Amino acid sequence: MTAVRLPPTMHVLQRGWLSSNNVVFIDGAEASVVDTGYCLHAEQTAQLVDRVRGERPLTRIINTHLHSDHAGGNARLRAQHAATIAIPPGLAPAVDAWDVETLTYAPTRQQCPRFTYDALLGAGDAATLGGLQWEVLAAPGHDPHMVVLFNHDERLLISADALWENGFGAIFPEIEGESGFDEQRAVLELIARRAPRVVIPGHGAPFTDVDRALERAFARLDALAASAERNARHVLKVLAKFWLMQVRETSRAASRSHFEGARYFQVIHRRYFADWPMAAMIDRAFDELASAGAAAVEGERIRDRDG
Ligand SMILES: [Zn+2]
Repeated sequence: MTAVRLPPTMHVLQRGWLSSNNVVFIDGAEASVVDTGYCLHAEQTAQLVDRVRGERPLTRIINTHLHSDHAGGNARLRAQHAATIAIPPGLAPAVDAWDVETLTYAPTRQQCPRFTYDALLGAGDAATLGGLQWEVLAAPGHDPHMVVLFNHDERLLISADALWENGFGAIFPEIEGESGFDEQRAVLELIARRAPRVVIPGHGAPFTDVDRALERAFARLDALAASAERNARHVLKVLAKFWLMQVRETSRAASRSHFEGARYFQVIHRRYFADWPMAAMIDRAFDELASAGAAAVEGERIRDRDG
């Protein structure tokens, strides 16, 4: 992998798949961070941020979206730093009410410690981070309320889950019959028009071969959009894998009881696989992970594996 050149005021803390990357910016005597990872890693996130900021206080936390793996460290960082939190506007009422259904923590069976916000950062807004000007772009598809950040001078894109080197975040709205594929396509087209030199994704290393990544993303989107059922199966696998990364090892019985009450599983079951027992649908998600090399299934035991 060739090292990607970034401005010296910008530090990408590359995490895994359970926690999103964190982008730390140095603005003179202050520091800011974009996205805070999953709650299970909040301590580690705080330490990594400390290492980059040194003596500078962390004054701003910005979230591209509020999925648990992007906002799970908000509460921990805020407790330490009294930093302001800026979120995309769409979910502000849900955060006020801490509506874990709308915030997706309940339907995915993921966790996110409660936090509040101080500011909204939406499409059309501008942000100064690391001495650079960032344009805030709406990036619905994966999450209707997600934003991404683009810097014109250096042509840098903080793409969250809209574009990874190999794919993008699951298109959740479609499983409930809401539109997501068209929005994701428009986001990819918007990214292509901005022609970033470097993409800093929500997961994985920053990359420069953006054309190839876009090509792969369009192809992947075509395949998912061609079959709503395929998309639904993909969502099940994503949720199963996320949980497996958390617990490392589990059993068939535990995985069934973990997910049978999850609304996303219930919706997918009702809409696509009503002929199957719910337990069989859950089992199959793990079996498909195993076929892809992302889990090991031996009898009743299920273990996490790097896919
Ligand atoms: Zn996400």
